[in-house]
Amino acid sequence: MSLKITDECINCDVCEPVCPNEAIYMGEEIYEIDPHLCTECVGHFDQPQCQLFCPVDCIPQDPDHVETSEQLLEKYKMLIAQKSASN
Ligand code: SF4
Ligand code: SF4
Repeated sequence: MSLKITDECINCDVCEPVCPNEAIYMGEEIYEIDPHLCTECVGHFDQPQCQLFCPVDCIPQDPDHVETSEQLLEKYKMLIAQKSASN
C-alpha cells in the first residue's frame, strides 16, 4: 500500500529528498506521492522514510492503493530495473 500526504502538510520540504524512489513531488498546493513509485520504502529501508521525518505526522497509508509486501517488493525490483535500464 503506498502512502499519501494529507492536507495537514505544511510544505516543509523534508520528505521529498529522503524518498529513495523519487515518489514525492510538489503538487498544486501541497506535496503529493505518486502511488506508482512508492514502495513504502520496501527494498531500501525498514520503515517509510517520509513518515519517519515528517514533523506533522501527515503521511498515512493510502487505502485506495492496497498492496501486499510481496507486491511492494516486486514494485521495488521493477523500479530498480527501470532505473538501471535508463542509466
Ligand atoms: Fe517514498 Fe518511502 Fe515515502 Fe513511499 S514511503 S513516498 S517510497 S519515502
Ligand atoms: Fe508535508 Fe510532511 Fe512532507 Fe513536510 S515532511 S512537506 S509536512 S508531508
